[in-house]
Amino acid sequence: MPELPEVETVRRGLEPAMAGQRILEAQVRRPDLRWPFPERMAERLEGKRVERLRRRSKYILVDLNSGESLLIHLGMSGRMIISGDVPGSFHHDLLPLAKHDHVVLEMENGARITFNDARRFGAMDLVPTAECDAHPLLASLGPEPLGNSFDGPRLAATLQGRRSQIKVGLLDQTLVAGLGNIYVCEVLHRAGLSPLRRCNNISRARVEALVPIIRKVLEEAIEAGGSSLRDHRQTNGDLGYFQHAFRAYGRESAACSTEGCGGTIRRVTQSGRSTFYCPDCQR
Ligand SMILES: [Zn+2]
Repeated sequence: MPELPEVETVRRGLEPAMAGQRILEAQVRRPDLRWPFPERMAERLEGKRVERLRRRSKYILVDLNSGESLLIHLGMSGRMIISGDVPGSFHHDLLPLAKHDHVVLEMENGARITFNDARRFGAMDLVPTAECDAHPLLASLGPEPLGNSFDGPRLAATLQGRRSQIKVGLLDQTLVAGLGNIYVCEVLHRAGLSPLRRCNNISRARVEALVPIIRKVLEEAIEAGGSSLRDHRQTNGDLGYFQHAFRAYGRESAACSTEGCGGTIRRVTQSGRSTFYCPDCQR
């Protein structure tokens, strides 16, 4: 499931193919994904110029010169594929449309953007640009972890009243937006903080210290995504997810990579989701 760094990587991959370009033709090849597509979606996209691509949490927002924005959520399995031409960047032959290619945008520069989603947990909607923040999917989101309004004192203030475990607390999207299971595991491992600790039982200094770690873990993953993007462009134009080397996530029974630790990564379940951590160095 794509998390913030993967979504940011897709946004960056789409930018050179879409920004400043008009959508010449839009094909909407089924009535819905997770939810029905908005009414007359193709008509509302065709002929419109893309002004810019933004990201909020795990959502991509494509601002159009019509005053509307195309909101894209990749869901569990959504992929963006670029084929055709992106001048100065690459050329991939246009392929016949494949199964699960649900939305296809032909851009004026010759690029074709295909949204493929086998499991159909993804979503697309059209929203007035000025009202994006009030969209039901975005309205209750907390601050962006890489933005200025996310800081230590604010995080400490929100967590100090909570009895939930810190792993569960950090997954609360109203507290900080876009952090998912994988990166929360990585953050706690790097912080040497046990995922089982209760939020209200962690010192203020340790909570505040999480903020720069969260930023660093996400920034490193975005950087890794950037290099994978260059490879993808050279291969097949598929912006789908890169394999990032994780220190804790997915490493059950492996030796802990913390210097001098010697522990073993364990997997436990918290709120129905797998947590990977090292009981020796995460206290
Ligand atoms: Zn360890």
